[in-house]
Amino acid sequence: MKLHEYQAKDIFRKFGIPVPDGQVATSGEEAVRVAEKLKGPPWVVKAQVHAGGRGKGGGVRVVDSLDDVREATQTILDQPLITKQTGAEGRRVYQVLIEEGVKIHQELYLAMVVDRSLARPVMIFSQAGGMEIEEVAARSPGLVLKEFVNPNTGWMPYHGRSLAYQLDPLPQPETLKALISLMARLYKTFMQLDCSLAEINPLVITKEGKVVAIDAKIDVDDNALFRQKELLAYDDPKEKDPLESKAGQYNLNYIRLDGNIGAMVNGAGLAMATMDVIKMAGAEPANFLDVGGGASEEMVTKGFEIILQDKKVKAILINIFGGILRCDVLARGVLAAAEKTEIPVPLIVRLEGTNVEEGRRILEESGLKFLVAKDMAEAADLVTKQVS
Ligand code: ADP
Ligand code: MG
Repeated sequence: MKLHEYQAKDIFRKFGIPVPDGQVATSGEEAVRVAEKLKGPPWVVKAQVHAGGRGKGGGVRVVDSLDDVREATQTILDQPLITKQTGAEGRRVYQVLIEEGVKIHQELYLAMVVDRSLARPVMIFSQAGGMEIEEVAARSPGLVLKEFVNPNTGWMPYHGRSLAYQLDPLPQPETLKALISLMARLYKTFMQLDCSLAEINPLVITKEGKVVAIDAKIDVDDNALFRQKELLAYDDPKEKDPLESKAGQYNLNYIRLDGNIGAMVNGAGLAMATMDVIKMAGAEPANFLDVGGGASEEMVTKGFEIILQDKKVKAILINIFGGILRCDVLARGVLAAAEKTEIPVPLIVRLEGTNVEEGRRILEESGLKFLVAKDMAEAADLVTKQVS
């Protein structure tokens, strides 16, 4: 689960990580009322969306008058925000964060993630802050420092020192102390809230030598939400793809992609392989959809409906290896969906495994128009021909 910047900053405040004063607003007028209560000018108006790179896309504006606070807010709320992470169509912004402008002396990068190969939390620190860390890693890998933590013994003061003392030039002792203490607090936040990511980019050293988190990004591990119930209040359905939300309600593993071949598959491995063969045949998948090993007829129906609702889909490939999910159950699920909505695009079916004859018979007797493929490669070829 992703959090908005303002939500992540609320959490940082609770854990004693310094952030600028600020509050969200949903209109120009409200933004002015918020700004009046804050120190300023300058004020900063920041789009609240689950996407990074807002600064470059015009989603972060530093302004010097209350009129400009109103205008910047209205501009950001009026048009979709396009950044490197939103795709070309951009994202609608429903709220902005108004906060005090900070006098920046230096921008650093600080984050916690889990290193899966070592099965350990790792703190990543760089004195090249404010830009994408992937870029820094590609251009000057020496500037990306890592400190792995043994989760059994936890964060130790030396972890922070070994990162902070590599800064060049070294900041004032008070600043270093604040930085090292902030690192410990970020570790605590990350572990206590079951985060998969806690990132501060930039972490700023101000002209006065203070250390302040100017940006804040927290992702919480969905699998831990059962014990992080108070974080559920931060969930924002408006930020989710509507089809992905719907899929979530039915326990379908569905991710929308950029292509135009809808694919319905059982099993994550087979779904990945199906995406590969679609690409090898020269087309692009419109989605990843794993209806699951033990899908019911209803789940198959819902999955098929979701694919049909995606307007980008120009052809559908059903690739099922019947095991626990039997081919006849799959066929009935598809028919149930087809009864409700007509299928306006070509359908290619490849079925194998348990009750395959029964499944094929149900589809053939249904009057539904579809092409049958004998194996995966043929299925991918057939479906690709429909869209090329
Ligand atoms: P994003 O990462 O989405 O571009 P950031 O929150 O990192 O958004 O903001 C982009 C840039 O805007 C920062 O690198 C910083 O230079 C400036 N900025 C953001 N918030 C403030 C603030 N409160 N005071 C001063 N400058 C800010
Ligand atoms: Mg940032």
